[in-house]
Amino acid sequence: MKIRLPSLLLALAIAAVSAAHAAKPNIILIAADDLGYADIGVHGCKEFATPNIDSLAKNGLRFAAGYATSAVCAPSRAGFLSGRYQDHFGFQGNPKHGASDWGLPLDERTIADRLKTAGYKTAAFGKWHLGEKPEQHPMSRGFDEYFGFLAGMHDYFKAEDPNWGAIMRGREKAELKEYLTFAIAKEACGFIERQKDAPFFIYLAFNAPHTPSQAPEDYLKKAAHIADKQRQTYAAMVMALDDSIGRVLKTLREKGLEENTLIFFLSDNGGPLIKGSAPNGSRNDPLRGGKLQMWEGGIRVPFMIQWKGHLPAGKTIAEPVISLDIQPTACAAAGVETKPEWKLDGLNLLPLLEGKAEHLARTDLFWKFGNDQFAIRGGDWKLVKVHADKGLFNLPKDISETTDRTAEQGKLAEDLKARWDVWETKNPTVNLKVAAEKKGKEQ
Ligand code: CA
Repeated sequence: MKIRLPSLLLALAIAAVSAAHAAKPNIILIAADDLGYADIGVHGCKEFATPNIDSLAKNGLRFAAGYATSAVCAPSRAGFLSGRYQDHFGFQGNPKHGASDWGLPLDERTIADRLKTAGYKTAAFGKWHLGEKPEQHPMSRGFDEYFGFLAGMHDYFKAEDPNWGAIMRGREKAELKEYLTFAIAKEACGFIERQKDAPFFIYLAFNAPHTPSQAPEDYLKKAAHIADKQRQTYAAMVMALDDSIGRVLKTLREKGLEENTLIFFLSDNGGPLIKGSAPNGSRNDPLRGGKLQMWEGGIRVPFMIQWKGHLPAGKTIAEPVISLDIQPTACAAAGVETKPEWKLDGLNLLPLLEGKAEHLARTDLFWKFGNDQFAIRGGDWKLVKVHADKGLFNLPKDISETTDRTAEQGKLAEDLKARWDVWETKNPTVNLKVAAEKKGKEQ
C-alpha cells in the first residue's frame, strides 16, 4: 500500500489531537440550590429516595465534611466558580434582581474561562445569580452556551416570571415547555449529545429545591405519604431533581462517556430553616442551623465527586474539603497548569482521592458573613460566631455543635481567632452588597 507523506502526516496529526482529547476528561459541575444536608439517601434520608445522587457517592467519593464558602447562594457560587474566597473581593450577600449593577467582579476569572482557554467547549444551564448586565452574563464569563435565568430564583412553570425575569437562551428570551428542573437537564443532555471532538465543561446549576415550592403533580403524588405540605412539595422537587440528574448520567452512559467524565455534585449552601432564608421544608440534621448561618447546617453540604475508572468507588472522605477545591482539581484532571497569579484558594484533591496523599496540605478553612458572623475550621476544631452566639467545637466528636469547649481550650480558641484575623486582613472592608444595591427584591 502506498501512502503519500502529507496524508500520513495529516493522519498522525488527527490521531494526536484525538489522543489529546481522550486524555482530557469532560467535566460537569452539578449544583443543587438550598438542598438540606439530611435530604439525600446516602446521608440517611428515608422519607424519599435519591438513587441518582446516591449513585455518585457509590460510584465515586462522598465528602462527609464538604463545605461551601458561604451560607447563601450568590457568594457561594462566586466562590466555587472563581476558585477564590469571595470575601477577598467583597462579595457578601445576594445581588438584587433587576436593580443592582454588580455581580462577580469582571477582573475575576471563572473555571469556565480556564477550561475554555484549554480547548473545552463550555456551557452553563440553570441559575446564574452573578450579575445581570451584558458583561456579567455567563457568555461573557467563559461559557459558550447558556440556558437558564439570571436572577436568584425563578418560577418552575412560567418562562416569564413577573418577579424574577425571563428564561433565557443565550442572551434572548426563551420558551419554557416543561418543569424547569427537567428543562435544565434536557439542555444539558442535548449539549452532551452535540459534542463530538472537544472535551466539554458543563455548569449544571439546578435551582431546585430552592423556593418557590412548586413540583409536578406526579411527583407530589410520589410524596403523598409526607404529611407536612411544604415538606411534601420539597420531597417532590428533590425527587424531580434526582431524576433529572439521572437523565444526564444516562446520556453520558449512552454516549460511552461515563468513564471519561469527571462529575462534581454539591449544594450551594445548607437547607434554609430560619425566617428570611426562604425556608423550603429541608432538613440539615444532625447539623446545627441552616442557610444564612455559619453553623455547620449553613455551610456543610451534600458534596461528592465521581470519575469512574479513575477514582475509587464508594469511599467516604472525612478530611474537610471546600468548594474552592473544585477548580484546582478540575484543572489537574484536565492537565491545565494552575498559575500563582490566579490566586486560587483551593487545592487539587486528586492525590488525596487516589490514596496517594494521606492528608491535604492545608491547615484552616475560613468563612465570614456580614459583620457579626465568622467561622474557622482548623483540623477537628471550629471556632464560630453567629450573631450573639459563639463557641469552640470539636466537630468529629460534636457534629451538632452543642458543647462549647472555649473554657477548657482557651488558648486554642485564641489561636484560631488570631488565624482568622490574619485571613480577614486579605478581605476588603467595602461590602459590595451594601455599596451597590439600590432597590429590588432579595432572595
Ligand atoms: Ca442556595
